[in-house]
Amino acid sequence: MPDLIHHLAAVQQRIATAANAAGRDPRSITLLAVSKTFPAEDVREAHAAGQGAFGENYVQESLAKIEALADLRDSIEWHFIGPLQSNKTRPVAERFDWVHSVDRLKIAQRLSEQRPDHLPPLNVCLQVNISGEASKSGVSVPEAVEVAQQIAALPRLQLRGLMAIPEAAGSVDEQRVPHRHLRELFERLCNDGLELDTLSMGMSSDLEAAVLEGATIVRIGTAIFGARDYSH
Ligand SMILES: *Cc1c(COP(=O)(O)O)cnc(C)c1O
Repeated sequence: MPDLIHHLAAVQQRIATAANAAGRDPRSITLLAVSKTFPAEDVREAHAAGQGAFGENYVQESLAKIEALADLRDSIEWHFIGPLQSNKTRPVAERFDWVHSVDRLKIAQRLSEQRPDHLPPLNVCLQVNISGEASKSGVSVPEAVEVAQQIAALPRLQLRGLMAIPEAAGSVDEQRVPHRHLRELFERLCNDGLELDTLSMGMSSDLEAAVLEGATIVRIGTAIFGARDYSH
C-alpha cells in the first residue's frame, strides 16, 4: 500500500506548513491517524512507516483491531474518538490510552471506575458541541466549565483538554471561527486552574484552520486511508 505512506507524508507536510504559518513548532502537533473502517493491516502499514497514534470510533471494531495488533501494543497509542454509550465503557477503559469523546459526567465516572489499577490514568478530553448543532454530541460551552471541573476530580482519569467536531465550513477563515471558540474555552479553563495541554481539533478538511488556532492533536482519517466504505 504505497499510497498510504505517501498520504501520511502529505498530511505531515500539511501540518508542518500550517504550523510554520502559525509560528508554531510542528512537533507540538500530534497526528492521530483515524483508522475506523480500515483493516488492521492498514494500521500495521502506517505503524511501520512511523505512525504511532491511531483513532477508532466503534467499540467492537476497535477491540478486534487492538487484538489483531497485540504484538505492537507497546508502541501504539489507541485513542477512542467515537460516541460512547454507558454500557460500552468497560472495554474502552480497559484497552485504550485516550478517550476524546467524553460528553457527559456519567461516562467519565464509569471510565474512572472501570480503569484497571495496573494501568496509568486514562487520558480524556471533554467533547464540546462548539457549533451548537442539535445533531452533535458534546457539552455546551456554558456547561463545559462545571463538567470539566467534575471530570478533573475523578481519580482514574487525567483530563487533558477539549475536543470538538465543528460544523463544516467552506473557507479556512470560516473554519477558524469554531476552532478559535474552542481555544478560548480551553484558555478559560486553564485560567480557572485546570492543568490542560490538549486541543483535539482538525480533520482532513480543516486541519490547517485547526493548527492555526492552536490544535495539539489533529484527527485525520480520509486524507491518510482514503474514503470510507460503510456498506459492509
Ligand atoms: C471519522 C472522524 C475523524 C476523521 O475524519 P476525516 O474527515 O476522515 O479526516 C476525526 N474525528 C472524529 C471524531 C471522527 O469520527
